[in-house]
Amino acid sequence: KRLILIGPPGSGKGTQSPLIKDEYCLCHLATGDMLRAAVAAKTPLGVKAKEAMDKGELVSDDLVVGIIDEAMKKPSCQKGFILDGFPRTVVQAQKLDEMLEKKGTKVDKVLNFAIDDAILEERITGRWIHPSSGRSYHTKFAPPKVPGVDDVTREPLIQRKDDTVEVLKSRLEAFHRQTEPVIDYYYKKGIVANLHADKPPKEVTAEVQKALS
Ligand code: ADP
Ligand code: ADP
Ligand code: ADP
Repeated sequence: KRLILIGPPGSGKGTQSPLIKDEYCLCHLATGDMLRAAVAAKTPLGVKAKEAMDKGELVSDDLVVGIIDEAMKKPSCQKGFILDGFPRTVVQAQKLDEMLEKKGTKVDKVLNFAIDDAILEERITGRWIHPSSGRSYHTKFAPPKVPGVDDVTREPLIQRKDDTVEVLKSRLEAFHRQTEPVIDYYYKKGIVANLHADKPPKEVTAEVQKALS
């Protein structure tokens, strides 16, 4: 399957995607994770992306479309994929359609992680991540076995620099202004499935499975 996950910051996209990946054996491309890796490695791409990310604004369409175009060439992404955090603008959605058209394929389903803004502050400020895998934890809702330590690798967890109340505000603004129109873009194609992303993780997983069955 060719899937897109859309939802505001903290809506649970990163939490659900490994489960979808294991079940459907797909490639998982998270533009946020790829950009953070580029920033950490101080690559030219990372240097260009950092300022926008620190402010909670979107990185330019050209940069992220370039990353996705490159990543989609991987052999593991030929039969299907999960795009997590991309497309985030209508221009990105159009470019993706063009990319897929050339290969004679298209997006099968868009999972819309619908949730009220009010819930997101607690989710974002309590989030801890394992940077190299992208795994996320939450101090209250999904605590690691040992505080501050990844369950799988035992490596330290970190808090994202942009997971503050102030930066969350601009990320939500960007979501409403630039990303919500993308949901409408796919509504018109009739491929959106709405999820109740405010429910507990297991219930969201069940809704994901129902939407994909
Ligand atoms: P979240 O966990 O808030 O959904 P991500 O990890 O997906 O956030 O993204 C973090 C930051 O990376 C965004 O605030 C934005 O600056 C940048 N980013 C990620 N994906 C995109 C994209 N498709 N287009 C533009 N900027 C992006
Ligand atoms: P996104 O990738 O959409 O930004 P995450 O999956 O990283 O969001 O989730 C944000 C935070 O909320 C994480 O700390 C995660 O552990 C927690 N979380 C994810 N899904 C749920 C849920 N259904 N209920 C409560 N907390 C959740
Ligand atoms: P459900 O029947 O699964 O509860 P709803 O139809 O109530 O789903 O919609 C769930 C979410 O999807 C809501 O948050 C709503 O804002 C959003 N939504 C529904 N229809 C549209 C649309 N045409 N365009 C954009 N967003 C929509």
